[in-house]
Amino acid sequence: MSITEFDIITNYFSKDYPKRSDVILGVGDDAALCTMPADKQLVIATDTLIENVHFPPKTRPEDIGYKALAVNLSDIAAMGATPAWMTLALTCPDTDETWLSKFSSGLRELAETSQVSLIGGDTTKGSLTITIQIIGFVNINSALQRRGAKPGDGIYLTGTVGDAGLGLASIEKRLVLARPLQKIVEMRLHRPTPRLSEGKALCGIASSAIDISDGLMADLGHILKASGVGATIQVDKLPLSKAVRDSLSAETAWNFALSSGDDYELCFTVPPENETALKEALPANSYTRIGTIERRNGLRCLDSNGRMFMPQESGYEHFIKLNIGANSRQRRNRTR
Ligand code: ADP
Ligand code: MG
Repeated sequence: MSITEFDIITNYFSKDYPKRSDVILGVGDDAALCTMPADKQLVIATDTLIENVHFPPKTRPEDIGYKALAVNLSDIAAMGATPAWMTLALTCPDTDETWLSKFSSGLRELAETSQVSLIGGDTTKGSLTITIQIIGFVNINSALQRRGAKPGDGIYLTGTVGDAGLGLASIEKRLVLARPLQKIVEMRLHRPTPRLSEGKALCGIASSAIDISDGLMADLGHILKASGVGATIQVDKLPLSKAVRDSLSAETAWNFALSSGDDYELCFTVPPENETALKEALPANSYTRIGTIERRNGLRCLDSNGRMFMPQESGYEHFIKLNIGANSRQRRNRTR
């Protein structure tokens, strides 16, 4: 016998999530009640995952649960904030309890790591769609924003980029990777690491920040537009994982790093006078400088010889076209 909407809420979305003393009333009433700290601002973000658009159809339910929260935490990280509460709007085609249990366990795993309480939501029937709203705190007037980059600021990335794109290419069998590499990049796609501690550490140091969901060029482009500036980046400085370096030619790797999305690293800018503070705030191996903000509008990519690198150049056209197609499809369908 299939279970009801209320059984789903009771069995999978009310118990066993982190408890917080600032939650007065959680799942079960018409709305949640929370106490917010007087000396903070609220930071609120929402992100939706849709099957076939944001994750491939055969993705494991525990990975879907994990990723649904991870992408939201990444937005909180990009603001330099600390997450506290979330709501979950779950639309699913049926009441498959095995699926629900695994989905809930993946979601709970990351909720525990990040100490986020599930305080409410909505449960409906339809094509598989997961919307999480996340709410966090930041010190008054200290949130990182997309605007604020100034000519002369360095442009930096946390971690490595291109891995999730390579993971998607591997899943979609657009290329074949050695088994251990395949595992690594597919994990990067399914279980991205939200850079929460890095985001917090960058408050008061970075002049702007964004998380990379749609690809470095697209997301750095948002910083440039919001800040009214341009930039030059050096493609040979792009931080690439061993998996990407071992699997792709340099040019293809750069294209992945520049255009494929879903890495959820932070891209941020730091004024020259804050470089020392940056060195003290983050371990040297956790971030890489890739370029400089300039007065002249637009984004320029240079190779190690100072020559202009044109992303998605022919030579790799067929391969790149497929890759870009996948990501632009994702971008078009993103709701944010
Ligand atoms: P209402 O009909 O008043 O909107 P619902 O029946 O939709 O209430 O929800 C009952 C309670 O369960 C509410 O507290 C709601 O926030 C919570 N809830 C519903 N779906 C979910 C979910 N997927 N995850 C967490 N809480 C949920
Ligand atoms: Mg409701």
